[in-house]
Amino acid sequence: MSNFDFDLFVIGGGSGGVRAARIAAGHGAKVALAEEYRMGGTCVIRGCVPKKLMVYASGYPEAVREAQAYGWDATIGAFDWEVFHRKLEAELDRLEGLYRKGQEGAGVTLHDCRATVAGPHEVRLADGRIVSAKHILVAVGGKPFVPEFEGCEHVLTSNDMFKFKTLPKTMLIVGGGYIACEFACILNGLGVEVSLLNRSALLRGFDAESRDVIVGQMERAGVRIRTGHVIDRVTCKGTAFSVHIAGQTEETYDAVLYATGRVPLTEGLGLEEAGVKLGQRGEVLVDEWSQTNVPSIFAVGDVTDRIQLTPVAIREGHAFADTVFGANPRKMDHDLVASAVFTQPEFGTCGVTEEEAAGTGADIYTSSFRPMKSLFAGNDEKVFLKLVVDQKTQVVTGCHIVGPDAGEMIQMVAIAMKMGATKAQFDATCAVHPTMAEELVTMRSPTRSV
Ligand code: NDP
Repeated sequence: MSNFDFDLFVIGGGSGGVRAARIAAGHGAKVALAEEYRMGGTCVIRGCVPKKLMVYASGYPEAVREAQAYGWDATIGAFDWEVFHRKLEAELDRLEGLYRKGQEGAGVTLHDCRATVAGPHEVRLADGRIVSAKHILVAVGGKPFVPEFEGCEHVLTSNDMFKFKTLPKTMLIVGGGYIACEFACILNGLGVEVSLLNRSALLRGFDAESRDVIVGQMERAGVRIRTGHVIDRVTCKGTAFSVHIAGQTEETYDAVLYATGRVPLTEGLGLEEAGVKLGQRGEVLVDEWSQTNVPSIFAVGDVTDRIQLTPVAIREGHAFADTVFGANPRKMDHDLVASAVFTQPEFGTCGVTEEEAAGTGADIYTSSFRPMKSLFAGNDEKVFLKLVVDQKTQVVTGCHIVGPDAGEMIQMVAIAMKMGATKAQFDATCAVHPTMAEELVTMRSPTRSV
């Protein structure tokens, strides 16, 4: 018999936490989980899920324009945010209920309150009760980061994007990463006048040529984009906000969104008091087994600031539970993790960029074309594909896709890449015609070598 109340106490009911709790319970562990807000965490409640539904909502005006070009007598009326929002809330409630049911069904004891670490084997609940556990898993995720400047309390973050009573007419978005670019496209599609401003190039760190294609299409779709600027003051003027761009003039918007990264949510969690080492950004430092320097405390997901993606957190949580409770030691493999940016056009990416491959001896294959569907409709949307191939081994080390359903395509390509597929094996795969993806197996000679 264990001297502890639980074998595992999970702090945080997001993607990583719920997976770890369910799998550990399935291995026979006695598990408790505390969540201070809503079960499901950032991905389900205020991230990937509501965002993707907004992406779908925002695509209809373009779909109707295309329908007209295809001969349909189609028109689109106004977008009713209230209708959409009501349905969105109902869907999030449904999903939250499913997450709760999944935990309860697995025998996990749920605490709907904040929990903090009180020692290597102790957790303090919001009401002051101390619960003991042989192992503690920290899976509290992250929160939006907003830099300090005059009036920074007036700006919105991604957490606020699903709470509008009515949509703003004009909006400034500051940042140039996943969230800024995705919301710029979503809001533009929903009819908001969007201005996007960042201190450096948009989507920095992604393949530069692919990024340029996206930025060009975003501009053509009506997003005003400026780079090389920062904001030094935001003032509230009744229902509007006056924004001062450093060294420039004032501009007025109905709302200002900051999407300037996310930081681990470790403040006040009791980790340092328990002896757990944190990094410079407040992230929990863990080894490849997701174990901290305190052997009984582990951490998975965004709080560790490794790769901030839902499927990564899920796999880290699963590997932890199998290792500690399933007698099946497994590490999460962080190599070749594909991801998608849900801009319009969509971006799917896996492996090294051309810039990262430069100087290593790589062949770059590219293909750029107007897809059949939009060509017929008379719009100038382009698809861009790039393969990075190591010259010595001929292994495909990078793939970057800009175009409709790029996220779906990169998932498939990532399987081949994970298997170490060579360019010759891509070429030996017969094309599926007529598709956009067939170009991935028909790129004959390199565009250049780097
Ligand atoms: P990102 O790290 O992707 O981008 C942050 C952006 O903010 C960069 O353009 C950065 O510029 C800029 N920035 C950072 N600090 C400052 C500052 N002090 N002042 C002005 N600008 C600043 O963060 P996001 O918030 O977009 O997303 C957070 C994470 O969430 C991502 O890393 C991603 O992993 C995850 N996510 C994934 C999604 C998906 O899979 N589709 C969707 C949404 C989020 P610079 O380039 O100069 O540093």
